[in-house]
Amino acid sequence: MKYHIIVFGCQMNISDSERVSAVLENIGYQKASNALGADVSAEALAKADLIVVTMCSVRQSAVDRVHGLVQKIKKLKAKSQKLKVVLTGCILKKDKKIFVQGFDYVIDIKDIKKLPEILQNPFTCKVSDRTLYKLDGYLDITPKYTSKFSANVPIMTGCNNFCAYCVVPYARDREISRPAKKIISEVKNLIKGGYKEIWLLGQNVNSYSNVLENNRIVGFPKLLEMVNDIPGNFWIRFTSSHPKDFNDEVISAMASYKKVTPYLNLPVQAGDNKVLRSMNRRYTVRDYKNKIKKLREKIPGIALSTDIIVGFPGETKKQFENTAKLFREIKYDMAYINKYSPRAGTAASKLKDNVTTKEKKRREKALTKVLKQTALAKNRKIIGKTTNVLVDSKRNNFYFGKNDHYKTIKIISNKNLLGKLTKVKITDASPFILKGKLTNEQ
Ligand code: SAH
Ligand code: SF4
Repeated sequence: MKYHIIVFGCQMNISDSERVSAVLENIGYQKASNALGADVSAEALAKADLIVVTMCSVRQSAVDRVHGLVQKIKKLKAKSQKLKVVLTGCILKKDKKIFVQGFDYVIDIKDIKKLPEILQNPFTCKVSDRTLYKLDGYLDITPKYTSKFSANVPIMTGCNNFCAYCVVPYARDREISRPAKKIISEVKNLIKGGYKEIWLLGQNVNSYSNVLENNRIVGFPKLLEMVNDIPGNFWIRFTSSHPKDFNDEVISAMASYKKVTPYLNLPVQAGDNKVLRSMNRRYTVRDYKNKIKKLREKIPGIALSTDIIVGFPGETKKQFENTAKLFREIKYDMAYINKYSPRAGTAASKLKDNVTTKEKKRREKALTKVLKQTALAKNRKIIGKTTNVLVDSKRNNFYFGKNDHYKTIKIISNKNLLGKLTKVKITDASPFILKGKLTNEQ
C-alpha cells in the first residue's frame, strides 16, 4: 500500500506530517513519491492508495487550496474505489464540518496515533473528544524525518495569545509544553544519527515551561542550555518567538550557548502602536526596538527577520508609514510580509476589512522594496568573508544551503556537499541569495 502526504503551511505542519509518515510506515505503508510539500502532481496522486492532507488554517488562501483539492480528490476517487483520503493538521472546528464532505476522515492531529485503527475499523474506532486539548501522546510518535541532516523538533503546541487576526489558538487549542526529557531524548537520537541542525518549534517558544519531578521549572533559556549541552557539532535554531516573551534571559542564553545560531525571527506584525494594540500584540514599537538593541549589543552581526501583516482593519496610510519607518530603522535581513485576510472566529473578523486588496499589495511592495535595499547592503558586506554553510539541496549543478545567519548560499563545487557543514567564501551577493566557493577550492 502506498501513501502520499500533501503539506500546506509552516514547519509545524511539516513536523506533523513526519509523524503521520511514521504512523503509516509502521503499519506497512510506503511512500508513493519522494516529493515533499504541497505536491499535488498527478503522478504522486495516481500512485497512492491513501492521501493525507496536512492543512493550515492561518490564512484563508491556504484553506482555499484545500477546497480546490477537494475537486481533484473527487475525480481520483471516481477512478479508484479503494483510495482513501484523510485531512489533518491545523483545522478549525467549523471547517472540520465542511471538509468531512470531501474527505473520508477528518482527524484531529492529536488523534493521529489512532489512524491505523480508523483505517482498519472506521465504524467502531472512537477518537478522543476533539474539543479537548490533550496531547494524547501524538508528539511521542518518532517521526519519519523529511531531511537527513535538519530536523524539526516540536517543543510545544497551541497558543494562549489570541492575537486579534490569528486562528491558531482556535485550530490548535491552548499551549502545552512537551516534557524537556522527551525533547532532549529526541535531539540526542538525532545527533547520534548525524543530524546537523535542530529546529525547536512552537507557536511561542519563549513561553515554553515544563515542571520537572522535583518541581523545578525548565523555561526556554534552560531548554536551550540543555540542548546545547548535548555533545556534537550541530546548530540550534528555533521559531516562533513572540516579542512580549522574548526577554533578557533568552538573549543571554542565545549569546552564551555556542550552538544557537546568530539568527532570530522576531515577528513585529506592525510598526504602529495603535495597530499593535488592536492586533492585541501586547508590546509597543519602543519595547520591540529596545529588545532588538539589546540583542544586537549581545550578539553583534546577528541576522534578523520578521513577520508583517499589511492592511490590518483600520490601518491608515500614516500608520503603515510607521511600519515602513521601522523597516528602514531595523534593517532586516529577511521579512515574511502577509496581506491581512479575515479569519472566521477571530476578534479582527468582526472589524471591517477596509483596506483594499490593491492598497494591501502596494504596502507589501513598498516594504519589499525597503527589505531588498537593507538585505542587499548587509549581504554585500559579507563578500570576501568565510561563512559556515549547511548544504541542503542540489539544483542544476549548484549546491544550496543556509549559513549560520540563515542566509541562502549558492555554491559551485565538484564535490558531493549534500548534508555537509562546510566553510564557504562569499564571492557575490544579491538581496536574498549569496554566491560562494569552498575555501579549499579557491
Ligand atoms: N506565532 C507566530 C505567528 C504564527 S502565524 C507569532 O506570534 O508571530 C504566521 C504568520 O502568519 C504571522 O506571523 C502573521 O504575520 C501571519 N498571519 C496570521 N494570521 C493572519 C491573517 N489573518 N492574515 C494575514 N496574515 C496572517
Ligand atoms: Fe497567532 Fe499570536 Fe499565537 Fe502567534 S502568538 S500563533 S500570531 S495568536
